[in-house]
Amino acid sequence: MKVAIVTSEAVPFSKTGGLADVAGTLFKEYLHMGIEAFLFMPLYKRTAEQFGKEIQGTGIAIDIPIGKAFRQCKVLTLKSQKRGRVFFIGNEGYFGRDELYGTPSGDYPDNDQRFAFFCKGVLEIFKRLNIEIDVMHCNDWQTGLIPIYLKTLYSNADVFRKTISVITIHNLGYQGIFPPQTMEITGLGWELFQMEGVEFYGNVNFLKAGIVGADIITTVSRTYAREILTPESGFGLDGILRKRADRIYGILNGIDYNEWNPSADKFLPYSYNRSRLSGKTKCKAELMKLCSLEGDTDAPLMSFVGRLSGQKGIDIFADAIAEIITKGANIVILGKGEEYYHALLNSVGERFYRRLFFYSGFDEAIAHLIYAGSDIFLMPSRYEPCGLGQMIAMRYGTIPIGRNTGGLADTIEDGENGFLFDDYSSRDLMNGIGRALACYADRKLWQRMMRSAMSKDFSWKKSARLYLELYRKFSR
Ligand code: ADP
Repeated sequence: MKVAIVTSEAVPFSKTGGLADVAGTLFKEYLHMGIEAFLFMPLYKRTAEQFGKEIQGTGIAIDIPIGKAFRQCKVLTLKSQKRGRVFFIGNEGYFGRDELYGTPSGDYPDNDQRFAFFCKGVLEIFKRLNIEIDVMHCNDWQTGLIPIYLKTLYSNADVFRKTISVITIHNLGYQGIFPPQTMEITGLGWELFQMEGVEFYGNVNFLKAGIVGADIITTVSRTYAREILTPESGFGLDGILRKRADRIYGILNGIDYNEWNPSADKFLPYSYNRSRLSGKTKCKAELMKLCSLEGDTDAPLMSFVGRLSGQKGIDIFADAIAEIITKGANIVILGKGEEYYHALLNSVGERFYRRLFFYSGFDEAIAHLIYAGSDIFLMPSRYEPCGLGQMIAMRYGTIPIGRNTGGLADTIEDGENGFLFDDYSSRDLMNGIGRALACYADRKLWQRMMRSAMSKDFSWKKSARLYLELYRKFSR
């Protein structure tokens, strides 16, 4: 079976969030399982800078129609085939920018062009290389046009005769919504600009294109697969999702056990494992020093690592900070995102100097040290399709506190390896924190919880197998 994973980001080449971890690691897992897998992503400026030596042109350049103009798609690949068949879609004008999707003040205004171009580029490569592909596994709105292209503009192409398309929704909150003129950019017929097609309240919706066009729709946890069918969590797409409910499946993400491994983590000054936890305390001391936090390693240290967006619950967290500090815990936050939250966290950082450290930015090394060096990991998310942070934290013996929603509900066992709270409010969050701190005070109980968290299996093997079963079920 030939499977293509098409994504706007994938580790190690580009990353803004969990999608990158999922796409990159699933691809690796497929190769490991002997599946013939392909990985497609744009060649961003940062990817070219960081991996330039490993990437080479294929000599293939394809002119892609975008509206009335043609834009050139350069096809690049990895020099070594050790990592399977990785393809990059290059276009300096579209992808040679500092960020992937936009700056803190907003999205790039031509994201419709950038990702319509990307989707067409991927399909054209299959035609050019004459590769008959069985599964086109798309991810999020950036790749949402592919399923509908396969059913329309590309339905007569021989290489796609047997192709089934899958769209995985990693986050329904991001849909790629553009004005009606975007129809011209996509090249799709105007007959699709209607409720059963890609139209969404007078605009064009790329994720909806994926939902109506795909043979299989998946999302990243079972609970989230149910939640997206409701008006409260459906972001306006619950109606169309309910219509396609027989094709929707929830498959939990895994994490990369090689990358996230406290006993062999190149970013950590000390290693540790379930039966030898002393290295964790040393990592904590190191983290406290780095963040100039006062007190000793006995004081509980809470952390947050994530995108600074409305989804992640930073507002209820910020409201709880004074009380958390009064209870004797220190806090470290690593995040990048909306300006509003940067300003908010900078101001609490100044107010609680030496008790709270806000590290503004995206930093892999610091993220690893935080997962290892803190005691409690907070995920007060408004909604959370799967969430990787809580799984990574557990792998490092750091006890998560999450809201009882989506993948948090499916991975955290309350009182056993973490804590769940129900209401989206700082009061209920504090409730969870209070219960966690009471357990933390009992060293034996806490160590038992840490070991329980560290014994969970969040590796990709199981989920990759579930995806393959699903492909087979619908294969042509
Ligand atoms: P989402 O996909 O909604 O951003 P997830 O919890 O699924 O959230 O995945 C987030 C991933 O991105 C995790 O691997 C997390 O460690 C990483 N991450 C998020 N923000 C940062 C940051 N500022 N610096 C380093 N890593 C980050």
